[in-house]
Amino acid sequence: MDISRRGFMKLTGAGAACLGLAELGFDLAPVRAVAADLKIEGAKEVVSICHFCSCGCNIIMSIKDGRMVAAGGDPDFPVSEGALCAKGAAFQSMHYSDRRLQKPLHRAPGSDRWEEKEWDFVLDRIARKVKDTRDKDFMVKNGKGQQVNRVESIFELGASQLDNEECALTHQMLMGLGVVHMDHQARV
Ligand code: SF4
Repeated sequence: MDISRRGFMKLTGAGAACLGLAELGFDLAPVRAVAADLKIEGAKEVVSICHFCSCGCNIIMSIKDGRMVAAGGDPDFPVSEGALCAKGAAFQSMHYSDRRLQKPLHRAPGSDRWEEKEWDFVLDRIARKVKDTRDKDFMVKNGKGQQVNRVESIFELGASQLDNEECALTHQMLMGLGVVHMDHQARV
C-alpha cells in the first residue's frame, strides 16, 4: 500500500489510541461521538505555505463553509516534519483575530496616541517623508571623493506579508532611490 507519512501518522495514531483504550475496557462510543463534532469534521484540507520566513513550511488548512477552521503543520513536509514555529502556529488567528489591524495607524508628532487613518493619507505621508529626506541627505560622493549616490538616513524593513516578487520590486525601488540600509523580517 502506498501511504504518505501524514496518512501513516493519522492511521497509527488513531489506531493505537483506540486499540489501547478498547483493550482496557473503555467504552469508546462517547469518544467517537465527540470526535464527530470536532471542528475539522467534514472540512476540506488545503495545503498552503507559511510565508513568514524562507523555510516556507507547509501548512494544512481545514476549510469548512468557505472559512478556515484550523491550521497546522504538514508531517510530509521534509524541512519541519509537521512542526510550526510560533509564527506559523498563529496562521489562523492572523486571519481572524479581532485584534488584527484593519487600517493603518498614525501617531502624529508630539502625540501620545495612535489614530486610524486611510491609506491615501499614509501613503502621501510616507512619500513626502522619503522625498524630503532624500533631497536633504542624498550623498553623491563619500569622504574619500568616491562616487556613491546613496542615502544613509532611510532604513527599510520588509514585512513577512511580502512575497518574493514584491520583495524584489521593493529592493529595486529602494536601490533606485539610493537607499542602502534595508533588511527583512523573514531573516530575523
Ligand atoms: S515562520 Fe516558522 S512556520 Fe513559518 S516558514 Fe518559518 S519556520 Fe516555518
